[in-house]
Amino acid sequence: MSNAASEAASSAIRELVDANHILFDQGVVDGFGHVSVRHPERSDRFLLSRSMAPALVTEADILEFDLDGNAVVPNGPAGYLERFIHGEIYRKRGDVMAVVHSHSPSVVPFSVVTGTKLRPICHMCGFLSGKGAPIFEIRDFAGPGSDLLITSGKLGAALADSLGEGPAVLMRGHGSTVVGTTLRQAVFRAVYTEIGARLQMEAMRLGPVTYLSEEETIGTTKTISTQYDRSWFLWLKAARNSAMSR
Ligand SMILES: [Zn+2]
Repeated sequence: MSNAASEAASSAIRELVDANHILFDQGVVDGFGHVSVRHPERSDRFLLSRSMAPALVTEADILEFDLDGNAVVPNGPAGYLERFIHGEIYRKRGDVMAVVHSHSPSVVPFSVVTGTKLRPICHMCGFLSGKGAPIFEIRDFAGPGSDLLITSGKLGAALADSLGEGPAVLMRGHGSTVVGTTLRQAVFRAVYTEIGARLQMEAMRLGPVTYLSEEETIGTTKTISTQYDRSWFLWLKAARNSAMSR
């Protein structure tokens, strides 16, 4: 952090550390992937760990960045290569307060096929777009030989455009990025994007699938939006009980 953190910033940092541990414990991130939160007092900044495995993140590892992806304190530890995902989404989406980027394994197949979109299949996944999650094709912006990573503001802005006003965008051959109006909502959505993808693949093996209607996505999202703390505190306890998060 740039200086003595305020109580609001300290609280945001503590919750961000918990989010890192939860996302690992729930199988959303592994050694890679990252989660950020918009700075509670500076809407033009965000908080994100230095480049390291999420399960190992501590409060001392959280850095403050501007929306261009520059660390506020120069010459510090290296940030994630793909930190531009976060800054450009915060820049484009004033409603977004938290961003999760992951390579969660059940989602990736939906990023590489045509004709089958990731869609809301159960009430817990009702936040997913009924039209299907958009897919970001990096070749359109980085050419045919990129490493598929979002390593510049230009690519981050293109990804943010692809996300649009939605909750999630898939990244072809790479992973996904999920946003929320709170950190707990973003974590919930990241976990249930992975679960929804797994359920959709299982259901498709059995036969034609009935997805939630547009009206049902609205109704289920409204009800679940009051319930994020229930899963948050369970997942937090599970993460703290895990040897990996001690
Ligand atoms: Zn990535």
